[in-house]
Amino acid sequence: MTGDDCIFCRIVRGEIPARKLYEDDEILAFHDIHPVAPVHFLIIPKVHVASLYEAGPEHQAVLGKVLGMAGRLAREAGAADGFRCIVNTGRVGRQEVYHLHLHVIGGPETLPAMLRR
Ligand code: 5GP
Ligand code: ZN
Repeated sequence: MTGDDCIFCRIVRGEIPARKLYEDDEILAFHDIHPVAPVHFLIIPKVHVASLYEAGPEHQAVLGKVLGMAGRLAREAGAADGFRCIVNTGRVGRQEVYHLHLHVIGGPETLPAMLRR
């Protein structure tokens, strides 16, 4: 899939509405449409990168920015006592949208254990 028919590229272009938390030239943060916790938003690079598998050295700066904004935006969104960042990647990682995104998940309650045995 290229950027043309990618749902997150369409959000970047304003063709699909999203509840935005933050935007600049390189990244966009918006609330997940199906939140799994009181705080659940996504941070994406505006450039179309399908997944971490496709990310290369040329994406390091923007991915650093994505990660570097997580704490500030989580605090502003109300995740005062912590949060979890997830990047689902590929089939095994159960990625559904193939435009690289960082989930930021938090809220007042303790999250479930990351993985169960
Ligand atoms: P993943 O690819 O990491 O499995 O998850 C994709 C996430 O994107 C899901 O949590 C899903 O709820 C969210 N999502 C899918 N389509 C849309 C959309 O059109 N708008 C928003 N805000 N979130 C979306
Ligand atoms: Zn895209």
